[in-house]
Amino acid sequence: MESCIFCKIVNGTIPSYTVYEDDQVLAFLDITQVTKGHTLIIPKQHVEDVFSLSDELASTIFRQVPAIANKLNATFHPIGLNIINNNKEPLQSVFHYHIHLIPRYENDGFTLSFHSTSPSQEELKSTLDEILNEQVLT
Ligand code: AMP
Ligand code: ZN
Repeated sequence: MESCIFCKIVNGTIPSYTVYEDDQVLAFLDITQVTKGHTLIIPKQHVEDVFSLSDELASTIFRQVPAIANKLNATFHPIGLNIINNNKEPLQSVFHYHIHLIPRYENDGFTLSFHSTSPSQEELKSTLDEILNEQVLT
Protein backbone atom coordinates (compact mmCIF):
# COMPACT_ATOMS: atom_id res chain seq x y z
CA MET A 1 0.00 0.00 0.00
CA GLU A 2 1.63 3.20 -1.26
CA SER A 3 1.00 5.56 1.62
CA CYS A 4 1.78 3.02 4.36
CA ILE A 5 4.97 3.72 6.30
CA PHE A 6 5.53 0.04 7.16
CA CYS A 7 5.08 -1.00 3.51
CA LYS A 8 7.77 1.56 2.74
CA ILE A 9 10.01 -0.14 5.29
CA VAL A 10 9.24 -3.54 3.73
CA ASN A 11 10.14 -2.34 0.23
CA GLY A 12 13.20 -0.43 1.43
CA THR A 13 11.96 3.07 0.56
CA ILE A 14 12.63 4.15 4.13
CA PRO A 15 15.30 2.63 6.38
CA SER A 16 14.78 0.46 9.44
CA TYR A 17 16.90 -1.48 11.90
CA THR A 18 16.14 -5.07 10.99
CA VAL A 19 16.11 -7.60 13.81
CA TYR A 20 14.71 -10.52 11.77
CA GLU A 21 13.51 -11.08 8.21
CA ASP A 22 12.13 -13.92 6.13
CA ASP A 23 9.87 -14.14 3.05
CA GLN A 24 6.74 -13.07 4.89
CA VAL A 25 7.79 -11.49 8.18
CA LEU A 26 9.93 -8.50 9.18
CA ALA A 27 10.99 -7.46 12.68
CA PHE A 28 12.67 -4.11 13.28
CA LEU A 29 13.42 -1.69 16.09
CA ASP A 30 10.58 0.68 16.94
CA ILE A 31 11.86 4.16 16.24
CA THR A 32 10.63 5.49 19.60
CA GLN A 33 12.20 2.71 21.78
CA VAL A 34 9.69 2.83 24.62
CA THR A 35 12.32 0.66 26.33
CA LYS A 36 15.68 -0.60 25.08
CA GLY A 37 15.14 -3.29 22.47
CA HIS A 38 11.50 -2.35 21.70
CA THR A 39 10.83 -4.31 18.51
CA LEU A 40 7.94 -4.50 16.03
CA ILE A 41 7.03 -7.68 14.17
CA ILE A 42 4.99 -7.21 10.99
CA PRO A 43 3.73 -9.22 8.04
CA LYS A 44 5.35 -8.03 4.79
CA GLN A 45 1.90 -8.15 3.24
CA HIS A 46 -0.19 -5.07 4.03
CA VAL A 47 -2.93 -6.05 6.48
CA GLU A 48 -4.51 -3.33 8.55
CA ASP A 49 -5.29 -4.95 11.87
CA VAL A 50 -6.15 -8.19 13.67
CA PHE A 51 -9.69 -8.11 12.32
CA SER A 52 -8.44 -8.55 8.78
CA LEU A 53 -5.64 -11.01 9.54
CA SER A 54 -6.08 -14.49 8.05
CA ASP A 55 -5.49 -17.58 10.21
CA GLU A 56 -2.52 -18.47 8.01
CA LEU A 57 -0.85 -15.07 8.23
CA ALA A 58 -1.51 -14.88 11.99
CA SER A 59 0.25 -18.19 12.46
CA THR A 60 3.12 -17.13 10.19
CA ILE A 61 3.73 -13.96 12.21
CA PHE A 62 3.12 -15.37 15.67
CA ARG A 63 5.42 -18.33 15.15
CA GLN A 64 8.34 -15.88 15.08
CA VAL A 65 7.42 -14.23 18.38
CA PRO A 66 9.10 -16.70 20.80
CA ALA A 67 12.43 -16.70 18.94
CA ILE A 68 12.57 -12.90 18.77
CA ALA A 69 11.48 -12.59 22.41
CA ASN A 70 14.23 -15.04 23.37
CA LYS A 71 16.77 -13.08 21.33
CA LEU A 72 15.83 -9.84 23.14
CA ASN A 73 15.84 -11.66 26.46
CA ALA A 74 19.31 -13.11 25.88
CA THR A 75 20.65 -9.76 24.66
CA PHE A 76 19.25 -7.33 27.21
CA HIS A 77 18.34 -9.54 30.21
CA PRO A 78 15.14 -7.62 30.97
CA ILE A 79 13.08 -8.47 34.05
CA GLY A 80 10.21 -9.35 31.70
CA LEU A 81 8.64 -8.54 28.36
CA ASN A 82 5.25 -7.21 27.26
CA ILE A 83 3.65 -8.21 23.98
CA ILE A 84 1.16 -5.62 22.78
CA ASN A 85 -0.93 -5.21 19.66
CA ASN A 86 -3.11 -2.13 19.17
CA ASN A 87 -6.08 -2.35 16.83
CA LYS A 88 -8.15 0.54 15.45
CA GLU A 89 -8.09 4.21 16.29
CA PRO A 90 -7.44 5.70 18.74
CA LEU A 91 -5.26 2.83 20.00
CA GLN A 92 -3.47 2.17 16.72
CA SER A 93 -1.38 4.83 14.98
CA VAL A 94 0.14 2.85 12.09
CA PHE A 95 -2.48 0.89 10.17
CA HIS A 96 -0.28 -1.99 9.08
CA TYR A 97 -0.62 -4.87 11.54
CA HIS A 98 2.23 -5.06 14.05
CA ILE A 99 3.10 -6.72 17.33
CA HIS A 100 5.12 -4.73 19.88
CA LEU A 101 7.73 -6.64 21.88
CA ILE A 102 8.68 -4.41 24.80
CA PRO A 103 11.43 -5.66 27.12
CA ARG A 104 10.87 -4.45 30.67
CA TYR A 105 13.44 -3.16 33.15
CA GLU A 106 13.37 -1.92 36.74
CA ASN A 107 12.00 1.64 36.85
CA ASP A 108 11.74 1.81 33.05
CA GLY A 109 8.91 4.35 33.21
CA PHE A 110 6.60 2.22 31.09
CA THR A 111 3.11 2.00 32.54
CA LEU A 112 0.59 -0.61 31.53
CA SER A 113 -2.12 -0.59 34.13
CA PHE A 114 -5.15 -2.82 34.22
CA HIS A 115 -8.16 -1.28 35.87
CA SER A 116 -9.61 -4.32 37.64
CA THR A 117 -13.31 -4.78 38.32
CA SER A 118 -15.01 -7.43 40.44
CA PRO A 119 -17.95 -8.78 38.43
CA SER A 120 -20.41 -11.17 40.06
CA GLN A 121 -20.76 -14.73 38.74
CA GLU A 122 -24.01 -13.64 37.07
CA GLU A 123 -22.27 -10.79 35.28
CA LEU A 124 -19.49 -13.10 34.08
CA LYS A 125 -22.09 -15.63 32.88
CA SER A 126 -24.02 -12.88 31.10
CA THR A 127 -20.85 -11.62 29.39
CA LEU A 128 -20.01 -15.17 28.35
CA ASP A 129 -23.54 -15.66 26.96
CA GLU A 130 -23.18 -12.51 24.85
CA ILE A 131 -19.95 -13.86 23.33
CA LEU A 132 -21.27 -17.39 22.78
CA ASN A 133 -24.49 -16.09 21.21
CA GLU A 134 -22.51 -14.15 18.60
CA GLN A 135 -22.46 -16.32 15.48
CA VAL A 136 -19.28 -15.02 13.88
CA LEU A 137 -16.98 -17.84 15.10
CA THR A 138 -19.42 -20.73 14.75
P1 AMP B 1 0.81 1.69 17.29
O1 AMP B 1 0.50 2.93 18.06
O2 AMP B 1 0.55 0.43 18.03
O3 AMP B 1 0.14 1.72 15.91
O4 AMP B 1 2.37 1.71 17.07
C1 AMP B 1 3.02 2.22 15.94
C2 AMP B 1 4.49 2.24 16.27
O5 AMP B 1 5.21 2.44 15.07
C3 AMP B 1 4.92 3.36 17.23
O6 AMP B 1 5.47 2.77 18.42
C4 AMP B 1 5.97 4.13 16.42
O7 AMP B 1 7.04 4.55 17.21
C5 AMP B 1 6.40 3.12 15.39
N1 AMP B 1 6.94 3.70 14.18
C6 AMP B 1 6.38 4.66 13.40
N2 AMP B 1 7.18 4.93 12.36
C7 AMP B 1 8.27 4.12 12.46
C8 AMP B 1 9.44 3.92 11.67
N3 AMP B 1 9.68 4.62 10.57
N4 AMP B 1 10.34 2.99 12.09
C9 AMP B 1 10.12 2.28 13.21
N5 AMP B 1 9.03 2.42 13.98
C10 AMP B 1 8.11 3.33 13.63
ZN1 ZN C 1 1.43 -1.42 4.89
